[in-house]
Amino acid sequence: MLVLYAAVVRVVGSEGELPADGGHPGTLRPPFADGGRSGVVWSDHMPAVAATTSAPRAWEGVLRRIEADLLSGTLVPGDRLPGERELASTLGVGRSSVREALRVLEAMGLVRTAVGSGPSAGAFVVAAPGAGLAQLLRLQVASRAFPVADVVAYRLLLEEWGVSAAAERSAVIDDAAQLLIAMDDTALSRNEFLALDAQFHIALARASGNAVVEASMAGLRSAVEEYVTSGAEALGSHWDAMRDTLHAEHTAIMAAISGGNPELARTLVGAHIIDYHAATDTASRNEKGTHRG
Ligand SMILES: [Zn+2]
Repeated sequence: MLVLYAAVVRVVGSEGELPADGGHPGTLRPPFADGGRSGVVWSDHMPAVAATTSAPRAWEGVLRRIEADLLSGTLVPGDRLPGERELASTLGVGRSSVREALRVLEAMGLVRTAVGSGPSAGAFVVAAPGAGLAQLLRLQVASRAFPVADVVAYRLLLEEWGVSAAAERSAVIDDAAQLLIAMDDTALSRNEFLALDAQFHIALARASGNAVVEASMAGLRSAVEEYVTSGAEALGSHWDAMRDTLHAEHTAIMAAISGGNPELARTLVGAHIIDYHAATDTASRNEKGTHRG
């Protein structure tokens, strides 16, 4: 851990950056790795304006270093980061910069912080950061308003690979099987069915054994649900027939996976996604009166 934070200082120092908060008298400063060749010497007497303009870079440097150490394995899930005061002192940055970096890491789902004292308090590297990836992707998808066709294409990429990987190991998918049974209830409302459908596809992605694919599917979920639900509304009275079709397709996909047939699973899930999109897309166009045929 000490190696890590000495390295952070080098990163920040090599860019000639200043301590974010302008410095605290009496704080121990680590020496520059470059011997001051950057031309900037940290001092407790730096002009306030210089400290202000360089403030964002100090915490970005902390982030970059932590990211690099996560990638290299120097930092591993479950590790506890040193306390805010210790970090600030070791890195030669202000405590507010450390707090800023930790807030960003927490929002990204990489670190969780616990208040209080004792061994359970402080900032920890999250053991399963999939939720963070899912959250970031969900926000990106929401804010960018990606075209539905692109969402469908990305979904195909993930799901065709996912079911094929699951079938290669003849995965037994208990949660998906339970969802399949639940979806067989004809008393379900359209939205109830579609919520289970979304869970079913995430369970399939989980069965691929690839955590990134699973997190990506989870992140895509609200975008998928949006086009799937609005498509279902456009189907009107044809929904019941569509529900039966979807259920039959789900059953066949599950059978291909448990039967260890990757190619069939891939073909079936591809058709399941494409056919539904095509049918509901046509229905939506008709509903909006853009279809002139
Ligand atoms: Zn489905």
